[in-house]
Amino acid sequence: MQEILINRVLYIPFDHLNQSFGVLATANKDSDLVVLIESKRMLTGRNWHPERLFFLVSSARHFAAELLQAGFKVEYIKAETTIDGLKSLGISAPIYCAEPSSFRQSAQLKEFGVSFIPNDFFLTPRTLFSEWAAKQKSFVMENFYRAQRQRLNILVEAGAPEGGQWNYDKDNRLGPPKNYVFPEPLSFQRDEIDLAVAKELGMTPTSYWATSRASALSALEHFVEHNLTGFGPYEDASTNSSWSLHHSLLSPYLNNGLLHAGEVVDAVVKKYRSGNVPIQSVEAFVRQVIGWREHINGMYWFLGEEYRELNGLSANRRILPVFTDSKKTKMNCVGSVVADLESRAWVHHIPRLMILSNLALLTGTNPQQFLDWMRENFIDAAEWVMVPNVIGMGVHADSGRLMTKPYAGGGSYISRMTEYCKGCSYDPKLRSGENACPFTTLYWDFLDRHHETFKKNHRMSQQVNGLKRLSDLPELRERAKEVLLGLDQGTI
Ligand SMILES: Cc1cc2nc3c(=O)[nH]c(=O)nc-3n(C[C@H](O)[C@H](O)[C@H](O)COP(=O)(O)OP(=O)(O)OC[C@H]3O[C@@H](n4cnc5c(N)ncnc54)[C@H](O)[C@@H]3O)c2cc1C
Repeated sequence: MQEILINRVLYIPFDHLNQSFGVLATANKDSDLVVLIESKRMLTGRNWHPERLFFLVSSARHFAAELLQAGFKVEYIKAETTIDGLKSLGISAPIYCAEPSSFRQSAQLKEFGVSFIPNDFFLTPRTLFSEWAAKQKSFVMENFYRAQRQRLNILVEAGAPEGGQWNYDKDNRLGPPKNYVFPEPLSFQRDEIDLAVAKELGMTPTSYWATSRASALSALEHFVEHNLTGFGPYEDASTNSSWSLHHSLLSPYLNNGLLHAGEVVDAVVKKYRSGNVPIQSVEAFVRQVIGWREHINGMYWFLGEEYRELNGLSANRRILPVFTDSKKTKMNCVGSVVADLESRAWVHHIPRLMILSNLALLTGTNPQQFLDWMRENFIDAAEWVMVPNVIGMGVHADSGRLMTKPYAGGGSYISRMTEYCKGCSYDPKLRSGENACPFTTLYWDFLDRHHETFKKNHRMSQQVNGLKRLSDLPELRERAKEVLLGLDQGTI
Protein backbone atom coordinates (compact mmCIF):
# COMPACT_ATOMS: atom_id res chain seq x y z
CA MET A 1 0.00 0.00 0.00
CA GLN A 2 1.48 3.38 -0.97
CA GLU A 3 0.54 5.25 2.17
CA ILE A 4 1.79 8.55 0.86
CA LEU A 5 -1.02 8.76 -1.68
CA ILE A 6 -3.85 8.13 0.77
CA ASN A 7 -5.35 11.15 2.56
CA ARG A 8 -8.45 9.44 3.92
CA VAL A 9 -9.84 5.97 4.30
CA LEU A 10 -13.56 5.84 3.49
CA TYR A 11 -15.13 2.84 5.19
CA ILE A 12 -18.34 1.60 3.52
CA PRO A 13 -20.53 -0.73 5.62
CA PHE A 14 -22.63 -3.18 3.60
CA ASP A 15 -25.71 -0.98 4.01
CA HIS A 16 -24.13 2.19 2.56
CA LEU A 17 -23.74 0.94 -1.02
CA ASN A 18 -24.31 4.17 -2.93
CA GLN A 19 -21.87 6.42 -4.77
CA SER A 20 -23.95 9.56 -4.24
CA PHE A 21 -24.56 9.32 -0.47
CA GLY A 22 -22.61 8.84 2.73
CA VAL A 23 -18.84 9.27 2.65
CA LEU A 24 -18.62 8.55 -1.06
CA ALA A 25 -20.49 11.74 -1.89
CA THR A 26 -17.33 13.69 -1.04
CA ALA A 27 -14.77 11.11 -2.21
CA ASN A 28 -11.61 12.10 -4.01
CA LYS A 29 -10.70 9.29 -6.38
CA ASP A 30 -7.01 10.23 -6.37
CA SER A 31 -6.36 10.51 -2.67
CA ASP A 32 -9.05 8.52 -0.83
CA LEU A 33 -9.03 4.77 -0.31
CA VAL A 34 -12.46 3.13 -0.23
CA VAL A 35 -12.66 0.09 2.04
CA LEU A 36 -15.33 -2.62 2.29
CA ILE A 37 -14.96 -5.45 4.79
CA GLU A 38 -16.55 -8.88 4.56
CA SER A 39 -16.21 -10.07 8.12
CA LYS A 40 -16.33 -13.72 9.11
CA ARG A 41 -18.30 -12.73 12.18
CA MET A 42 -21.00 -11.28 9.93
CA LEU A 43 -21.09 -14.43 7.81
CA THR A 44 -21.04 -17.05 10.51
CA GLY A 45 -21.99 -15.24 13.74
CA ARG A 46 -25.66 -16.20 13.57
CA ASN A 47 -28.01 -18.60 11.89
CA TRP A 48 -28.64 -16.29 8.91
CA HIS A 49 -31.03 -17.17 6.12
CA PRO A 50 -28.73 -18.11 3.18
CA GLU A 51 -30.67 -15.87 0.77
CA ARG A 52 -30.07 -12.89 3.04
CA LEU A 53 -26.32 -13.52 3.29
CA PHE A 54 -26.12 -14.03 -0.45
CA PHE A 55 -27.93 -10.75 -1.11
CA LEU A 56 -25.78 -8.71 1.27
CA VAL A 57 -22.42 -10.13 0.17
CA SER A 58 -23.13 -10.21 -3.55
CA SER A 59 -24.44 -6.61 -3.49
CA ALA A 60 -21.27 -5.48 -1.70
CA ARG A 61 -18.99 -7.28 -4.14
CA HIS A 62 -20.88 -5.85 -7.13
CA PHE A 63 -20.60 -2.42 -5.58
CA ALA A 64 -16.84 -2.77 -5.00
CA ALA A 65 -16.43 -3.85 -8.64
CA GLU A 66 -18.45 -0.83 -9.83
CA LEU A 67 -16.32 1.54 -7.76
CA LEU A 68 -13.13 0.09 -9.23
CA GLN A 69 -14.56 0.51 -12.69
CA ALA A 70 -15.43 4.12 -11.89
CA GLY A 71 -11.79 4.81 -11.02
CA PHE A 72 -11.83 4.65 -7.19
CA LYS A 73 -9.02 3.05 -5.21
CA VAL A 74 -10.81 0.16 -3.51
CA GLU A 75 -9.83 -2.50 -0.97
CA TYR A 76 -12.34 -5.33 -0.44
CA ILE A 77 -11.03 -7.12 2.62
CA LYS A 78 -12.03 -10.46 4.10
CA ALA A 79 -11.27 -10.49 7.81
CA GLU A 80 -12.37 -12.06 11.06
CA THR A 81 -14.15 -8.86 12.17
CA THR A 82 -14.65 -5.36 10.76
CA ILE A 83 -12.11 -3.92 13.17
CA ASP A 84 -9.56 -6.62 12.23
CA GLY A 85 -10.13 -5.62 8.61
CA LEU A 86 -9.51 -1.95 9.33
CA LYS A 87 -6.40 -2.80 11.37
CA SER A 88 -5.05 -4.94 8.51
CA LEU A 89 -4.89 -1.85 6.29
CA GLY A 90 -1.84 -0.63 8.22
CA ILE A 91 -2.51 2.95 7.14
CA SER A 92 -2.27 5.98 9.41
CA ALA A 93 -4.70 8.11 7.38
CA PRO A 94 -7.92 9.04 9.23
CA ILE A 95 -10.91 6.76 8.66
CA TYR A 96 -14.34 8.21 7.80
CA CYS A 97 -17.74 6.58 7.62
CA ALA A 98 -21.31 7.85 7.43
CA GLU A 99 -23.07 7.33 10.80
CA PRO A 100 -23.68 3.57 11.05
CA SER A 101 -27.16 2.11 11.32
CA SER A 102 -26.97 0.52 14.78
CA PHE A 103 -25.87 1.49 18.28
CA ARG A 104 -23.47 -1.44 18.40
CA GLN A 105 -21.67 -0.73 15.14
CA SER A 106 -21.45 2.97 16.01
CA ALA A 107 -19.80 2.18 19.36
CA GLN A 108 -17.30 -0.28 17.83
CA LEU A 109 -16.20 2.06 15.05
CA LYS A 110 -16.07 5.07 17.35
CA GLU A 111 -13.88 3.20 19.79
CA PHE A 112 -11.51 2.36 16.95
CA GLY A 113 -11.26 6.06 16.11
CA VAL A 114 -13.46 6.24 13.01
CA SER A 115 -14.96 9.72 12.40
CA PHE A 116 -18.58 9.95 11.34
CA ILE A 117 -20.31 12.23 8.89
CA PRO A 118 -24.12 12.60 9.06
CA ASN A 119 -26.06 9.67 7.62
CA ASP A 120 -28.00 10.91 4.59
CA PHE A 121 -29.38 7.52 3.57
CA PHE A 122 -32.60 8.69 5.21
CA LEU A 123 -34.60 11.81 4.43
CA THR A 124 -34.76 12.89 8.08
CA PRO A 125 -31.61 13.80 10.02
CA ARG A 126 -31.54 12.11 13.43
CA THR A 127 -31.43 15.43 15.27
CA LEU A 128 -34.48 16.71 13.40
CA PHE A 129 -36.44 13.59 14.32
CA SER A 130 -35.41 13.87 17.99
CA GLU A 131 -36.61 17.48 18.04
CA TRP A 132 -39.99 16.35 16.69
CA ALA A 133 -40.24 13.37 19.07
CA ALA A 134 -39.27 15.41 22.12
CA LYS A 135 -42.34 17.60 21.54
CA GLN A 136 -44.83 14.71 21.24
CA LYS A 137 -47.10 13.25 23.91
CA SER A 138 -47.36 10.05 21.88
CA PHE A 139 -45.37 9.25 18.77
CA VAL A 140 -48.24 8.96 16.32
CA MET A 141 -46.78 8.19 12.90
CA GLU A 142 -49.58 9.98 11.06
CA ASN A 143 -48.66 13.32 12.68
CA PHE A 144 -45.01 12.84 11.77
CA TYR A 145 -45.97 11.86 8.23
CA ARG A 146 -48.06 14.98 7.63
CA ALA A 147 -45.20 17.15 8.83
CA GLN A 148 -42.88 15.23 6.48
CA ARG A 149 -45.18 15.90 3.53
CA GLN A 150 -44.98 19.62 4.28
CA ARG A 151 -41.27 19.71 5.09
CA LEU A 152 -40.26 17.72 2.00
CA ASN A 153 -42.94 19.32 -0.15
CA ILE A 154 -44.31 16.01 -1.44
CA LEU A 155 -47.89 15.88 -2.78
CA VAL A 156 -48.59 19.26 -1.20
CA GLU A 157 -50.02 22.35 -2.89
CA ALA A 158 -49.97 25.67 -1.02
CA GLY A 159 -49.72 23.83 2.29
CA ALA A 160 -52.69 21.54 1.57
CA PRO A 161 -52.59 17.86 0.61
CA GLU A 162 -53.00 17.12 -3.09
CA GLY A 163 -56.42 15.63 -3.77
CA GLY A 164 -57.79 17.17 -0.59
CA GLN A 165 -56.87 14.49 1.98
CA TRP A 166 -53.66 13.59 3.81
CA ASN A 167 -54.51 9.91 3.97
CA TYR A 168 -56.68 7.77 1.69
CA ASP A 169 -56.62 4.52 3.61
CA LYS A 170 -60.36 4.41 3.94
CA ASP A 171 -60.38 3.76 0.15
CA ASN A 172 -57.72 1.06 0.56
CA ARG A 173 -57.58 -1.92 2.93
CA LEU A 174 -59.56 -4.24 0.67
CA GLY A 175 -59.54 -7.97 1.29
CA PRO A 176 -58.07 -10.36 -1.29
CA PRO A 177 -59.74 -9.86 -4.69
CA LYS A 178 -61.50 -12.68 -6.54
CA ASN A 179 -60.43 -13.65 -10.09
CA TYR A 180 -57.67 -11.08 -10.17
CA VAL A 181 -54.20 -11.63 -11.59
CA PHE A 182 -51.31 -9.94 -9.81
CA PRO A 183 -48.20 -9.19 -11.91
CA GLU A 184 -45.30 -11.61 -11.75
CA PRO A 185 -42.36 -10.22 -9.79
CA LEU A 186 -39.18 -9.50 -11.75
CA SER A 187 -36.67 -12.27 -12.06
CA PHE A 188 -32.92 -11.56 -12.01
CA GLN A 189 -30.27 -13.45 -13.99
CA ARG A 190 -27.30 -14.49 -11.84
CA ASP A 191 -23.91 -13.28 -13.04
CA GLU A 192 -20.35 -14.43 -12.27
CA ILE A 193 -20.13 -12.48 -9.03
CA ASP A 194 -23.45 -13.91 -7.82
CA LEU A 195 -22.42 -17.43 -8.69
CA ALA A 196 -19.04 -17.10 -6.96
CA VAL A 197 -20.72 -15.80 -3.77
CA ALA A 198 -23.33 -18.57 -3.87
CA LYS A 199 -20.60 -21.18 -4.27
CA GLU A 200 -18.64 -19.82 -1.31
CA LEU A 201 -21.79 -19.80 0.81
CA GLY A 202 -22.73 -23.30 -0.36
CA MET A 203 -26.23 -22.32 -1.46
CA THR A 204 -28.32 -21.87 -4.61
CA PRO A 205 -29.82 -18.39 -4.82
CA THR A 206 -33.33 -17.64 -6.03
CA SER A 207 -33.81 -15.13 -8.84
CA TYR A 208 -36.01 -12.78 -6.75
CA TRP A 209 -33.43 -10.29 -5.49
CA ALA A 210 -31.29 -7.79 -7.36
CA THR A 211 -27.66 -7.49 -6.29
CA SER A 212 -26.48 -4.43 -8.23
CA ARG A 213 -27.49 -0.80 -8.60
CA ALA A 214 -28.62 -1.38 -12.21
CA SER A 215 -30.87 -4.30 -11.33
CA ALA A 216 -32.26 -2.51 -8.25
CA LEU A 217 -33.19 0.38 -10.58
CA SER A 218 -35.01 -2.08 -12.83
CA ALA A 219 -36.92 -3.34 -9.77
CA LEU A 220 -37.98 0.26 -9.08
CA GLU A 221 -39.09 0.73 -12.67
CA HIS A 222 -41.02 -2.56 -12.58
CA PHE A 223 -42.86 -1.46 -9.44
CA VAL A 224 -43.78 1.93 -10.84
CA GLU A 225 -44.98 0.47 -14.14
CA HIS A 226 -46.79 -2.66 -12.93
CA ASN A 227 -47.65 -2.38 -9.26
CA LEU A 228 -48.07 1.22 -8.18
CA THR A 229 -51.66 1.53 -9.40
CA GLY A 230 -52.84 -1.48 -7.38
CA PHE A 231 -50.59 -0.81 -4.37
CA GLY A 232 -53.13 1.06 -2.24
CA PRO A 233 -56.27 -1.11 -2.46
CA TYR A 234 -54.51 -4.41 -1.71
CA GLU A 235 -51.70 -3.29 0.57
CA ASP A 236 -53.24 -5.06 3.58
CA ALA A 237 -54.52 -8.15 1.78
CA SER A 238 -52.95 -11.62 1.62
CA THR A 239 -53.80 -14.17 -1.02
CA ASN A 240 -52.69 -17.65 -2.01
CA SER A 241 -52.44 -16.60 -5.67
CA SER A 242 -49.50 -14.22 -5.25
CA TRP A 243 -46.75 -13.89 -2.62
CA SER A 244 -45.90 -10.30 -3.52
CA LEU A 245 -49.32 -8.86 -4.54
CA HIS A 246 -48.62 -5.22 -5.48
CA HIS A 247 -45.86 -4.68 -2.93
CA SER A 248 -42.76 -2.96 -4.22
CA LEU A 249 -40.16 -5.50 -2.97
CA LEU A 250 -37.81 -2.54 -2.66
CA SER A 251 -37.00 -2.72 1.07
CA PRO A 252 -33.76 -4.74 0.62
CA TYR A 253 -32.34 -2.08 -1.72
CA LEU A 254 -33.58 0.86 0.31
CA ASN A 255 -31.89 -0.71 3.32
CA ASN A 256 -28.52 -1.60 1.79
CA GLY A 257 -28.16 1.64 -0.17
CA LEU A 258 -28.64 0.38 -3.73
CA LEU A 259 -31.68 2.67 -3.87
CA HIS A 260 -32.27 5.92 -2.01
CA ALA A 261 -35.65 6.82 -0.51
CA GLY A 262 -35.54 10.17 -2.33
CA GLU A 263 -35.25 8.65 -5.80
CA VAL A 264 -37.93 6.05 -5.05
CA VAL A 265 -40.41 8.75 -4.00
CA ASP A 266 -39.44 10.92 -6.98
CA ALA A 267 -40.11 8.05 -9.40
CA VAL A 268 -43.53 7.41 -7.85
CA VAL A 269 -44.57 11.07 -7.86
CA LYS A 270 -43.34 11.43 -11.45
CA LYS A 271 -45.57 8.53 -12.48
CA TYR A 272 -48.50 10.15 -10.69
CA ARG A 273 -47.91 13.41 -12.58
CA SER A 274 -48.06 11.50 -15.86
CA GLY A 275 -51.66 10.53 -15.01
CA ASN A 276 -53.38 7.13 -14.74
CA VAL A 277 -52.29 6.37 -11.18
CA PRO A 278 -54.86 6.96 -8.43
CA ILE A 279 -53.93 9.27 -5.58
CA GLN A 280 -54.87 6.63 -2.96
CA SER A 281 -52.13 4.31 -4.22
CA VAL A 282 -49.50 7.02 -4.61
CA GLU A 283 -50.29 8.55 -1.23
CA ALA A 284 -50.26 5.13 0.48
CA PHE A 285 -46.85 4.29 -0.95
CA VAL A 286 -45.35 7.70 -0.20
CA ARG A 287 -46.62 7.31 3.38
CA GLN A 288 -44.74 4.02 3.75
CA VAL A 289 -41.47 5.54 2.63
CA ILE A 290 -41.42 9.11 3.99
CA GLY A 291 -43.69 8.23 6.94
CA TRP A 292 -43.25 4.72 8.32
CA ARG A 293 -39.68 4.09 7.24
CA GLU A 294 -38.37 7.42 8.51
CA HIS A 295 -40.45 7.25 11.69
CA ILE A 296 -39.14 3.79 12.54
CA ASN A 297 -35.54 4.84 11.96
CA GLY A 298 -36.02 8.01 13.99
CA MET A 299 -37.64 6.08 16.83
CA TYR A 300 -34.80 3.52 16.91
CA TRP A 301 -32.33 6.29 17.72
CA PHE A 302 -34.74 8.26 19.90
CA LEU A 303 -35.78 5.32 22.09
CA GLY A 304 -32.19 4.35 22.85
CA GLU A 305 -30.09 1.24 23.14
CA GLU A 306 -31.94 -0.35 26.08
CA TYR A 307 -35.26 -0.36 24.22
CA ARG A 308 -34.21 -3.59 22.46
CA GLU A 309 -34.20 -5.47 25.76
CA LEU A 310 -37.70 -4.52 26.96
CA ASN A 311 -40.11 -7.28 27.96
CA GLY A 312 -43.09 -5.43 29.41
CA LEU A 313 -45.45 -8.42 29.25
CA SER A 314 -42.89 -10.76 30.91
CA ALA A 315 -43.07 -13.08 27.91
CA ASN A 316 -40.63 -15.92 28.45
CA ARG A 317 -41.67 -18.77 26.19
CA ARG A 318 -38.83 -20.17 24.08
CA ILE A 319 -39.07 -19.58 20.34
CA LEU A 320 -41.62 -22.08 18.94
CA PRO A 321 -40.39 -24.98 16.75
CA VAL A 322 -42.60 -23.77 13.88
CA PHE A 323 -40.48 -20.66 13.48
CA THR A 324 -37.55 -22.81 12.43
CA ASP A 325 -39.50 -25.48 10.57
CA SER A 326 -42.69 -24.64 8.70
CA LYS A 327 -43.82 -28.27 8.95
CA LYS A 328 -44.08 -28.13 12.74
CA THR A 329 -47.69 -26.89 12.68
CA LYS A 330 -51.11 -27.75 11.31
CA MET A 331 -52.11 -24.07 11.24
CA ASN A 332 -52.34 -23.26 7.56
CA CYS A 333 -51.55 -19.55 7.96
CA VAL A 334 -48.43 -20.00 10.09
CA GLY A 335 -47.14 -22.96 8.07
CA SER A 336 -47.62 -21.11 4.74
CA VAL A 337 -46.00 -17.89 5.95
CA VAL A 338 -42.97 -19.63 7.44
CA ALA A 339 -42.64 -21.76 4.27
CA ASP A 340 -42.73 -18.55 2.17
CA LEU A 341 -40.05 -17.06 4.36
CA GLU A 342 -37.94 -20.20 4.05
CA SER A 343 -38.13 -19.92 0.24
CA ARG A 344 -37.31 -16.25 -0.25
CA ALA A 345 -36.46 -14.54 3.06
CA TRP A 346 -39.38 -12.14 2.63
CA VAL A 347 -43.10 -11.91 3.37
CA HIS A 348 -45.03 -8.66 3.29
CA HIS A 349 -46.03 -6.57 6.28
CA ILE A 350 -49.35 -8.27 7.04
CA PRO A 351 -47.90 -11.77 7.53
CA ARG A 352 -45.06 -10.19 9.54
CA LEU A 353 -47.58 -8.50 11.82
CA MET A 354 -50.82 -10.47 11.71
CA ILE A 355 -49.32 -13.96 11.60
CA LEU A 356 -45.72 -14.10 12.86
CA SER A 357 -45.71 -11.29 15.45
CA ASN A 358 -49.30 -12.02 16.51
CA LEU A 359 -48.31 -15.64 17.17
CA ALA A 360 -45.29 -14.54 19.21
CA LEU A 361 -47.41 -12.00 21.12
CA LEU A 362 -50.32 -14.33 21.90
CA THR A 363 -48.10 -17.26 22.90
CA GLY A 364 -45.95 -15.06 25.15
CA THR A 365 -42.77 -15.82 23.20
CA ASN A 366 -39.70 -14.08 24.54
CA PRO A 367 -39.40 -10.80 22.56
CA GLN A 368 -35.61 -10.94 22.23
CA GLN A 369 -35.64 -14.53 20.94
CA PHE A 370 -38.35 -13.58 18.44
CA LEU A 371 -36.45 -10.43 17.43
CA ASP A 372 -33.28 -12.45 16.83
CA TRP A 373 -35.20 -14.94 14.72
CA MET A 374 -36.75 -12.13 12.63
CA ARG A 375 -33.34 -10.44 12.21
CA GLU A 376 -31.81 -13.67 10.96
CA ASN A 377 -34.52 -14.61 8.50
CA PHE A 378 -35.58 -11.49 6.61
CA ILE A 379 -33.69 -10.22 3.59
CA ASP A 380 -34.38 -6.59 4.55
CA ALA A 381 -33.68 -6.94 8.28
CA ALA A 382 -31.42 -4.49 10.05
CA GLU A 383 -31.20 -3.53 13.68
CA TRP A 384 -32.69 -0.02 13.23
CA VAL A 385 -35.79 -1.35 11.48
CA MET A 386 -36.40 -4.66 13.26
CA VAL A 387 -36.08 -3.37 16.82
CA PRO A 388 -39.00 -0.85 16.79
CA ASN A 389 -41.09 -2.97 14.42
CA VAL A 390 -40.78 -6.11 16.56
CA ILE A 391 -40.38 -4.84 20.13
CA GLY A 392 -42.91 -2.01 19.72
CA MET A 393 -45.29 -2.76 16.89
CA GLY A 394 -45.13 -6.55 16.78
CA VAL A 395 -45.12 -7.84 20.35
CA HIS A 396 -45.83 -4.79 22.53
CA ALA A 397 -42.81 -5.54 24.69
CA ASP A 398 -42.35 -1.78 25.23
CA SER A 399 -45.65 -1.48 27.16
CA GLY A 400 -47.00 0.91 24.55
CA ARG A 401 -44.20 3.46 24.06
CA LEU A 402 -44.43 3.16 20.27
CA MET A 403 -48.00 1.93 19.68
CA THR A 404 -50.74 2.59 22.18
CA LYS A 405 -52.23 -0.89 21.97
CA PRO A 406 -51.00 -4.38 21.12
CA TYR A 407 -51.65 -5.68 17.63
CA ALA A 408 -53.49 -8.79 18.79
CA GLY A 409 -55.98 -10.54 16.54
CA GLY A 410 -57.96 -13.78 16.52
CA GLY A 411 -58.82 -16.17 13.71
CA SER A 412 -61.85 -14.26 12.37
CA TYR A 413 -59.68 -11.25 11.62
CA ILE A 414 -57.18 -13.44 9.78
CA SER A 415 -60.02 -15.13 7.93
CA ARG A 416 -61.39 -11.76 6.77
CA MET A 417 -58.10 -10.36 5.46
CA THR A 418 -56.46 -13.50 4.06
CA GLU A 419 -57.23 -16.77 2.28
CA TYR A 420 -55.22 -18.91 4.70
CA CYS A 421 -58.25 -20.27 6.53
CA LYS A 422 -59.62 -22.09 3.48
CA GLY A 423 -58.83 -25.76 3.91
CA CYS A 424 -57.17 -25.27 7.32
CA SER A 425 -57.59 -27.99 10.00
CA TYR A 426 -58.90 -25.36 12.41
CA ASP A 427 -62.06 -23.23 12.45
CA PRO A 428 -61.48 -19.49 12.99
CA LYS A 429 -64.97 -19.06 14.48
CA LEU A 430 -64.37 -21.56 17.31
CA ARG A 431 -62.70 -20.58 20.60
CA SER A 432 -62.66 -23.89 22.39
CA GLY A 433 -62.65 -27.54 21.47
CA GLU A 434 -60.08 -29.39 19.42
CA ASN A 435 -61.10 -27.80 16.10
CA ALA A 436 -60.85 -24.26 17.46
CA CYS A 437 -58.44 -21.97 15.64
CA PRO A 438 -55.39 -21.59 17.91
CA PHE A 439 -55.33 -17.85 17.12
CA THR A 440 -58.93 -17.44 18.30
CA THR A 441 -58.30 -19.42 21.51
CA LEU A 442 -55.04 -17.65 22.24
CA TYR A 443 -56.45 -14.20 21.48
CA TRP A 444 -59.04 -14.51 24.28
CA ASP A 445 -56.58 -16.25 26.57
CA PHE A 446 -54.10 -13.40 26.01
CA LEU A 447 -56.71 -10.80 26.96
CA ASP A 448 -57.64 -12.92 29.97
CA ARG A 449 -54.01 -13.36 31.10
CA HIS A 450 -53.24 -9.65 30.73
CA HIS A 451 -56.64 -8.43 31.82
CA GLU A 452 -55.25 -6.30 34.67
CA THR A 453 -52.72 -4.57 32.39
CA PHE A 454 -55.08 -3.84 29.52
CA LYS A 455 -58.19 -2.80 31.41
CA LYS A 456 -56.37 0.50 32.17
CA ASN A 457 -55.84 1.11 28.44
CA HIS A 458 -58.90 2.89 27.04
CA ARG A 459 -58.10 1.69 23.50
CA MET A 460 -58.31 -1.89 24.77
CA SER A 461 -61.34 -1.62 27.02
CA GLN A 462 -63.81 -2.82 24.40
CA GLN A 463 -61.73 -5.92 23.69
CA VAL A 464 -61.16 -6.64 27.39
CA ASN A 465 -64.87 -6.13 28.15
CA GLY A 466 -65.63 -8.75 25.49
CA LEU A 467 -64.25 -11.33 27.93
CA LYS A 468 -67.30 -10.83 30.14
CA ARG A 469 -69.54 -12.12 27.35
CA LEU A 470 -67.69 -15.43 27.06
CA SER A 471 -69.72 -18.22 28.59
CA ASP A 472 -67.01 -20.80 27.88
CA LEU A 473 -64.04 -19.10 29.56
CA PRO A 474 -63.10 -22.14 31.72
CA GLU A 475 -63.08 -24.43 28.64
CA LEU A 476 -61.20 -21.80 26.67
CA ARG A 477 -58.50 -21.59 29.34
CA GLU A 478 -58.09 -25.38 29.23
CA ARG A 479 -57.90 -25.35 25.44
CA ALA A 480 -55.31 -22.54 25.56
CA LYS A 481 -53.07 -24.72 27.76
CA GLU A 482 -53.35 -27.57 25.22
CA VAL A 483 -52.66 -25.19 22.32
CA LEU A 484 -49.56 -23.76 23.98
CA LEU A 485 -48.26 -27.23 24.78
CA GLY A 486 -48.99 -28.38 21.23
CA LEU A 487 -47.20 -25.38 19.75
CA ASP A 488 -44.21 -26.00 22.03
CA GLN A 489 -44.13 -29.59 20.79
CA GLY A 490 -44.78 -28.67 17.15
CA THR A 491 -48.00 -30.70 16.98
CA ILE A 492 -50.74 -28.02 16.75
C1 LIG B 1 -42.88 -7.14 12.66
C2 LIG B 1 -42.39 -6.37 11.47
C3 LIG B 1 -41.06 -6.46 11.09
C4 LIG B 1 -40.59 -5.71 10.01
N1 LIG B 1 -39.26 -5.78 9.69
C5 LIG B 1 -38.78 -5.03 8.68
C6 LIG B 1 -37.40 -5.09 8.34
O1 LIG B 1 -36.62 -5.80 8.94
N2 LIG B 1 -36.98 -4.31 7.30
C7 LIG B 1 -37.82 -3.50 6.61
O2 LIG B 1 -37.37 -2.80 5.71
N3 LIG B 1 -39.12 -3.42 6.93
C8 LIG B 1 -39.63 -4.18 7.92
N4 LIG B 1 -40.97 -4.13 8.21
C9 LIG B 1 -41.84 -3.22 7.47
C10 LIG B 1 -42.50 -3.82 6.21
O3 LIG B 1 -43.08 -5.06 6.54
C11 LIG B 1 -41.47 -4.02 5.11
O4 LIG B 1 -40.78 -2.83 4.89
C12 LIG B 1 -42.13 -4.42 3.79
O5 LIG B 1 -42.89 -5.58 3.97
C13 LIG B 1 -41.05 -4.62 2.75
O6 LIG B 1 -41.61 -5.03 1.52
P1 LIG B 1 -41.82 -3.98 0.34
O7 LIG B 1 -40.53 -3.33 0.03
O8 LIG B 1 -42.51 -4.68 -0.75
O9 LIG B 1 -42.76 -2.93 1.02
P2 LIG B 1 -43.97 -2.04 0.47
O10 LIG B 1 -45.22 -2.59 1.03
O11 LIG B 1 -43.87 -1.89 -0.99
O12 LIG B 1 -43.70 -0.65 1.20
C14 LIG B 1 -42.80 0.31 0.67
C15 LIG B 1 -41.68 0.62 1.61
O13 LIG B 1 -42.16 1.23 2.79
C16 LIG B 1 -41.21 1.05 3.83
N5 LIG B 1 -41.92 0.62 5.04
C17 LIG B 1 -43.23 0.35 5.16
N6 LIG B 1 -43.54 0.04 6.43
C18 LIG B 1 -42.40 0.12 7.13
C19 LIG B 1 -42.07 -0.09 8.49
N7 LIG B 1 -42.99 -0.45 9.41
N8 LIG B 1 -40.79 0.04 8.86
C20 LIG B 1 -39.84 0.41 7.96
N9 LIG B 1 -40.10 0.61 6.66
C21 LIG B 1 -41.36 0.48 6.26
C22 LIG B 1 -40.22 -0.01 3.34
O14 LIG B 1 -39.02 0.63 3.01
C23 LIG B 1 -40.88 -0.58 2.10
O15 LIG B 1 -39.95 -1.00 1.14
C24 LIG B 1 -41.47 -4.87 9.29
C25 LIG B 1 -42.80 -4.81 9.66
C26 LIG B 1 -43.26 -5.55 10.74
C27 LIG B 1 -44.69 -5.45 11.12
